[in-house]
Amino acid sequence: MYNIILINPPVYDFTYFNLWEKPLGLLNLASAFGADERCRVHFIDCVPERLKKKSEYDRGAGKLTGVRTDKPECFKTIKRNFHRYGIGIGELEERLLKIKSGIKPGEPSAVLIGAMMTYWYMGAFEAAAAARRVMPQAAVALGGIYARLAPEHAGRSGLFDYIETGFDVFAIRENILKILNVTAPGCGRSCGSLIPAYHLLEELNNSVSLATSTGCPYRCSYCASGVLYPRYSVKPAAAIVEELSYYKTALGVKNAAFYDDALLYKKEENFYRWADEWIKTGGGIDFHLPNAAHASMIDEKCAAVMKAAGFKTVRLGYEFYDKKKQDAASGGKVSGAVLKRAVANLKKEGFNAGDIGVYILFGHPACDIVETANAVDFVFDCGATPGLSLYSPIPRTPDAEAVFAQNPEILSEPLLQNKTVFFQLYSGIDYGQYYDLKTRIQRLRSAG
Ligand code: SF4
Repeated sequence: MYNIILINPPVYDFTYFNLWEKPLGLLNLASAFGADERCRVHFIDCVPERLKKKSEYDRGAGKLTGVRTDKPECFKTIKRNFHRYGIGIGELEERLLKIKSGIKPGEPSAVLIGAMMTYWYMGAFEAAAAARRVMPQAAVALGGIYARLAPEHAGRSGLFDYIETGFDVFAIRENILKILNVTAPGCGRSCGSLIPAYHLLEELNNSVSLATSTGCPYRCSYCASGVLYPRYSVKPAAAIVEELSYYKTALGVKNAAFYDDALLYKKEENFYRWADEWIKTGGGIDFHLPNAAHASMIDEKCAAVMKAAGFKTVRLGYEFYDKKKQDAASGGKVSGAVLKRAVANLKKEGFNAGDIGVYILFGHPACDIVETANAVDFVFDCGATPGLSLYSPIPRTPDAEAVFAQNPEILSEPLLQNKTVFFQLYSGIDYGQYYDLKTRIQRLRSAG
């Protein structure tokens, strides 16, 4: 037997609003390892907080309560409280000790830590240090978006025996098995269909997240999708319906959030196929789209299928008001006219303004506060609700590379990539202006 201990680490940030987010990568890995009968899989979710407000729990998304903690030196000028979200280090060590007590002498073991945002690395470092203290015999590996976008930074910590920069779970499993000197399981990729191992999480908060596809055909200059997933690929429709049915009947959750980057791309071949089958089963799950969908894909039929399938929360990417920037930075994925038409189609099907959120980039170097305010007004005019999407310079994206060339410290210290911080320190927009615009959005939203 060998042992795999997966850790979803604590999070350090100013706020943490969990939009149905789940440690999907780690849960998929747990599933891939779980298909090998020689493996004991353990999962430690360091952020298992149950949502306290009933309305948030019912919807499966809400604000988490952190513990106020000291700000890192580079945040000292930011006038906001900084928090740690998740179980304490003592509890994490206890849980590792308990797992360790069940491992027989000489059995290979690996601790795999997944880190999402580049600027969340502090939690991953903390978990790695705890694993090294408690289980010095285990290999400690890091994966996830941070590892893939900033492997050099992670490597400099000296905390990890291995840093995984790929995303194919079966390839990752092979890499880890090589480190442990364990032969790959005979069943390879055919070990059943891969449904994230949600049964290992102690709290689901009435929701799951899933991705029916990876990648995106666009190459927006501020987005890392093309870096993380060079090719667009999609799951078979039958597998998606099977997965959703499992969530409904076995897990009993009422909400599912799609974390696709391009859910509606080639909708005739992908989205319609599984959505039609899902509708035939009677549906029964509220669907949410925290990642923006492409407005250009939402024609009348698409809006009708989305409604019938059970979509409740729709988010669309708009980003810039200025047409030249829409074309240059977003590759023409959207225009004012396209957005207007998509919103009208959705409203015809019964979605209301509150259901349709439209993301506008805030604090992007090419965009000042006046243009952002114009975008806000335009979205209200379309009949939807604007949402400010705070720009974060993501390593390996063209826009961030330009930012790093001017301010190299942001590359060497990923904490400065934090979206709450970047605009205040580098965009020339201050917190007061941000607050005023947010307040205006709230006021107009309530008035509508
Ligand atoms: S369309 Fe969306 S997911 Fe695709 S590259 Fe642009 S921002 Fe990223």
